Amino acid sequence: AQEELRERVRSERYFDGLYERNALHLHPLNYAIGLAAAATQQGVRVHENSDVWRLRREGAHWRISTPQGELQAEQVVLACGGYLAGLRRQIDRSVLPIATYVMVTEPLGERLDECLQTRAAVYDTRFAFDYYRPLPDRRLLWGGRISVRNRSASAVRRVLMRDLLRVFPVLKGVRIDYAWSGLMSYARHQMPQIGTDGQGLWWAQAFGGHGLAPTCAAGELLAAAMAESDEGWKQFADYGLAHAYKPFGLLGAQASYWWQEFNDWFKRSLEG
Ligand SMILES: Cc1cc2nc3c(=O)[nH]c(=O)nc-3n(C[C@H](O)[C@H](O)[C@H](O)COP(=O)(O)OP(=O)(O)OC[C@H]3O[C@@H](n4cnc5c(N)ncnc54)[C@H](O)[C@@H]3O)c2cc1C
Repeated sequence: AQEELRERVRSERYFDGLYERNALHLHPLNYAIGLAAAATQQGVRVHENSDVWRLRREGAHWRISTPQGELQAEQVVLACGGYLAGLRRQIDRSVLPIATYVMVTEPLGERLDECLQTRAAVYDTRFAFDYYRPLPDRRLLWGGRISVRNRSASAVRRVLMRDLLRVFPVLKGVRIDYAWSGLMSYARHQMPQIGTDGQGLWWAQAFGGHGLAPTCAAGELLAAAMAESDEGWKQFADYGLAHAYKPFGLLGAQASYWWQEFNDWFKRSLEG
């Protein structure tokens, strides 16, 4: 009910809400570090900061070139999201890189209580929705917007601050300690692309709009496929590497976001 919602989320912007008791939110970098530590304990070697700049088929193997050296592998997974590895044209051109933005306020102390009386993560029902959550040190992590433009930190701060103040005007004047933009990958059919060429080259991309959890599920599917010949990944086989029609895809994508934003605005004005 509205009263209960406004008790927990102190904004007049919302009318009703759905509280998902069993949901959770997490720190994605810590999650990645934890996964890497667990894999390392099992004998996996992780090489950070080693861009792969060439991938070639050599006999029954793949030869992988990095600035640090070359290696051979029977199996290779390309999971480069919106950052496009530049290794296989067919794989890169199947997704559109789309930017989204995040910022983190200074620690808000008791001011946070004026906005939130919940530790839940919150998002609204628009297409380009605001999403935010309180952090343990009483900062507010705030995200939103989708765009074909990867903006600078100061531009991200400016656009997201406008969004934040629309929801919590009491936070006027708070300092923003961090702001960044990052890329997600979207397929034309809007489903993840998980597949193989049948010669040991695998891909897992287009998780934009689906988020972190399915990337983890895709990792498990591919690990089972490679280690145990499990065929679970085939459930995604219908959603192939459809060409995303760049560069017109980007124009189309931006036009579609503007249209969706217009719809969001229109719905809001009807609601009064
Ligand atoms: C600002 C922002 C906010 C988000 N908020 C949320 C959220 O609140 N909840 C949620 O569920 N999801 C969120 N997401 C989406 C989520 O982060 C993505 O869905 C997820 O990270 C995609 O994972 P991925 O492994 O496919 O790609 P990525 O995490 O993008 O990883 C791809 C990696 O490939 C590397 N790479 C690229 N080319 C090469 C190369 N040639 N050689 C070596 N490495 C290469 C890149 O450096 C990168 O590290 C957000 C995304 C962004 C950008």
